[in-house]
Amino acid sequence: MEHLRKSDPAVMEAMGLELKRQRHNIELIASENIVSEAVMEAMGSVLTNKYAEGYPNKRYYGGCEHVDVVEDIARDRAKELFGAEHANVQPHSGAQANMAVYLAALQPGDTVLGMNLAHGGHLTHGSPVNASGLLYNFAAYGVREDNFRIDYDEVRKAAFKHRPRLIVAGASAYPRTIDFEAFASIANDVGALFMVDMAHIAGLVAAGIHPSPVPHAQFVTTTTHKTLRGPRGGLILTRKAWAQAIDKAIFPGTQGGPLMHVIASKAVALGEALQPSFKTYAQNVVRNAQVLAETLLAEGINIVSGGTDNHLMLLDTRNLNITGKEAEHVLDSVGITVNKNAIPFDPTSPFVTSGIRIGTPAATSRGMDEEAMVKIGKIIADTLKNPKDDTVLSKASQAVGELTDKFPIYPGTQY
Ligand code: PLP
Repeated sequence: MEHLRKSDPAVMEAMGLELKRQRHNIELIASENIVSEAVMEAMGSVLTNKYAEGYPNKRYYGGCEHVDVVEDIARDRAKELFGAEHANVQPHSGAQANMAVYLAALQPGDTVLGMNLAHGGHLTHGSPVNASGLLYNFAAYGVREDNFRIDYDEVRKAAFKHRPRLIVAGASAYPRTIDFEAFASIANDVGALFMVDMAHIAGLVAAGIHPSPVPHAQFVTTTTHKTLRGPRGGLILTRKAWAQAIDKAIFPGTQGGPLMHVIASKAVALGEALQPSFKTYAQNVVRNAQVLAETLLAEGINIVSGGTDNHLMLLDTRNLNITGKEAEHVLDSVGITVNKNAIPFDPTSPFVTSGIRIGTPAATSRGMDEEAMVKIGKIIADTLKNPKDDTVLSKASQAVGELTDKFPIYPGTQY
């Protein structure tokens, strides 16, 4: 980084502080991860210089012979990893991947059935302030109030009531296994297309830990930076019959030139996900989440739906007399990073919330194990139960420091 240090000390300094923050904090934001050096090297490469509108062998620019190779590798690996007929690796983000599917499959004003945002769905599944909600007529299904799980009979009823052109499954804050087969059968019976946004669980699907949506859905979208542990970006998997429409919806439909450095980095991450070690990683992510949930439950902390099947859990902080916002803040003060998150049927506003979302993908990437999860669970419980006790908070900070020292990240990197 010697060039950057000399040419732009202000940016360099902020980057150095961010590296320090990542090293010394325990990252429990469920949508984040810690990528390999190889993934970062591909991103910070000369490929950022190249315009390559179009697709391999069908570009609108000259000089694309090498980036064509990179994009083909990325597409082939995505298809192999998920068993898909076609992959588009160009979406700049998960949001753009979703918008491209809507553009390919829908007409403005068409009805779509997606998961209630307040129950764990994503902004791009019909929020009124998002293009999805502005352009299409979204109706919602949610979770049951007694067990916080998706009720497939209710989804079926909602599907027959609203008669959507598209059903969307997938979520940002749902800790339980999603039954894609059940969704597909509902979509089939009501004559709807079916899309799965597997952004959160893509790494678990890649490793065979969560059932795959690919055999059941016409469209599967994902981000590449969550459990999949790649660069920030999006990916769409589809069937041959929809391949052309999806490619057209990305370029020229919703994007210009692809980010070839990011596509190279996606290729590297997908290559890593094809290795047997990635399966072990994904298994550890889920096991760690379960141990963390068990530890928190034993400490008297409420976990929405009583636990987790995947990489994340939702803590209901109401019995601790602390809001989600306060919980996020106090955990941050001891070096644990989480995000406040509305819980289903949350009585408070989305800016305050009654809960936090916690996930294990990043902590597991730095090697943290079950023993570490028990320690983290106790630190979280102590902190949330005593948010104003300086002695407790200082002990919690120290315990976080011991863990981050034991599981270092990017040992050779100096910013
Ligand atoms: N879909 C789901 C389920 C997500 O959780 C997210 C991000 O949090 C996205 C889509 C959007 O991804 P991006 O932030 O890359 O646009």
